[in-house]
Amino acid sequence: MRFSALRILKEGLTGNKGWSAHWRDPDPKDEYDVVIVGGGGHGLSTAFYLAKEHGITNVAVLERGYIGGGNVGRNTTIVRANYGLPGNSEFYSHSLKLWEQLEDELNYNVMHSQRGIINLFHSDGQRDAFARRGNAMVNQGDDAILMNRDQVRDMIPYLNFDSLRFPIYGGLYHPRGGTARHDAVAWGFARGADQRGVDLIQNCEVTGINIENGKVRGVETSRGTIRAKKIALATAGRSSQTAAMAGMRLPIESHVLQAFVTEGIKPVIDHVISFGMGHFYISQSDKGGLVFGGDIDFYASYASRGNLPMMEHVMEAGMSLMPMIGKAKVLRSWGGIMDMSPDGSPIIDKTDIDGLYLNCGWCYGGFKAVPGSGFSYAHLIATDRHHEPAARFRLDRFQTGYGLMDEEATGSQHNLH
Ligand SMILES: Cc1cc2nc3c(=O)[nH]c(=O)nc-3n(C[C@H](O)[C@H](O)[C@H](O)COP(=O)(O)OP(=O)(O)OC[C@H]3O[C@@H](n4cnc5c(N)ncnc54)[C@H](O)[C@@H]3O)c2cc1C
Repeated sequence: MRFSALRILKEGLTGNKGWSAHWRDPDPKDEYDVVIVGGGGHGLSTAFYLAKEHGITNVAVLERGYIGGGNVGRNTTIVRANYGLPGNSEFYSHSLKLWEQLEDELNYNVMHSQRGIINLFHSDGQRDAFARRGNAMVNQGDDAILMNRDQVRDMIPYLNFDSLRFPIYGGLYHPRGGTARHDAVAWGFARGADQRGVDLIQNCEVTGINIENGKVRGVETSRGTIRAKKIALATAGRSSQTAAMAGMRLPIESHVLQAFVTEGIKPVIDHVISFGMGHFYISQSDKGGLVFGGDIDFYASYASRGNLPMMEHVMEAGMSLMPMIGKAKVLRSWGGIMDMSPDGSPIIDKTDIDGLYLNCGWCYGGFKAVPGSGFSYAHLIATDRHHEPAARFRLDRFQTGYGLMDEEATGSQHNLH
C-alpha cells in the first residue's frame, strides 16, 4: 500500500474502506539471522536500514509492549544537529540529513517540520560558548546563526525580555532544526521494515540471552526460544536490564524524564525555543498544544512516570521565560525512562560476546538520532565495522577514559547533560 494524495482523495470519497494494516502481525519463527531487542525508534530504524542498505531481511524486532509505546512515542519531538564535539557533531549532522529525506524514503508523513531552533543565552560567557558551538556546526556543514538580543526580540517578541534575573543576551539559531511527529516516525520505520520482510513481534518480552562458548545462540522470550546468529540490543531505558541478561554491567543509569502538553491554542510559537538558564524547551504542536519539557527527575527509576517537584520546577522555568504560558491549561503529562550515559553521549558498539551488539546511552536526545542511529547500527551489525559518523560511540571509552564526549562539560552529573 502506497500513500499518495490521489489515494487519500479516493479513500476519502469511498468511505476509507481500502486501507490495509501498516504491518503484519506474524508469529515468531524459530530462527533469524538478526534479532533486534526493542521496538522503539532505534530498533525499528535499525531493522529498516538492515533490510534496505544491506539486504538483510531475515530479521525480527522483539518488542515487550507495543510499537511506539516507549520513549519514541513519549518525547518532545525535537530534531536538531547542533552539537559541538567531534564524534557527536558528524553523527547528528548525518542523522539530520537522513531526516530531510525520510518522508520520501518511507513514503510516510512523519510531519518533519524544520521550523528552526533557538537556544537562548543569558551571559557573555554563554554567548562565547554558543559562538564556539555555532562555528563547530558551520564547520560541520550545518547551519547556525548567532543572534543578538534585538534579533531575538524581533523573532520571538513574547519572551520575557525584562527579566533582571535571567536577561536574554541573544540566541543561537539553527534554522534546519525543528520537530517531527514522534509516533509517526516509529510507525513509518515499522511499516518500511515490514514491507522489506522484517518480522515485528509485539508483546514479546526478551527474558534471557543464550550464549555458548562466548557466542550468542538466541534469546528466551515470553513467546518461546528464538535462535539468532546476531542479537542487537536497542532497549533504551531498559538497556542495563537487557545487557545484564548477557552478564554485562553497563555504565548506564535509568532516570525519568517528563513532558507536558497544554490544551490546543491558536498558533503562537513558530519555533522550538530552548531556555539557557535552566532546562526548559518548548514548541507548539500542529494540533495547537504547547509541548514542553525540562530536567530529569533526580532519582534513578524504571517507572514511566514522574513526580510533582520536577513538574513545578519545569513550570517555573517556563513562566520565567514566557509568562504568557501561564494562561494555558496543562492537558497531560507523562514520563519516559532515559538511558543516561556518564558523558551524555551514546554507545553504538560490538561487545566482547560474539554476535552481541549494543545501542544505548541516548540520554535526553535519542529521538533526533533515530535515523542516524539505525543507519550506523545496521552498518555495524552487517559489516562488523563501525560506520564512520558513529565510530566514536565506543563502549570502552568508559573503561579507558579515552574518547569521552562530554558535550556539556558537566562530568557525569546526569541532570546537566
Ligand atoms: C519526555 C521525553 C522527552 C524527550 N524529548 C526528546 C527530544 O525532544 N528530542 C530528542 O532527540 N530526544 C528526546 N527524548 C529522548 C528520546 O525519546 C529517546 O532517547 C529515544 O526515543 C530512545 O530510543 P528508542 O526510541 O529506541 O526508545 P524506546 O521507544 O523506549 O524503545 C525501547 C524499546 O525497548 C523495549 N524493551 C525494553 N526491554 C525489552 C525486553 N526485555 N524485551 C523486548 N523489548 C524490550 C521497550 O518496551 C521499548 O519499546 C525524550 C525522551 C522523553 C522520555
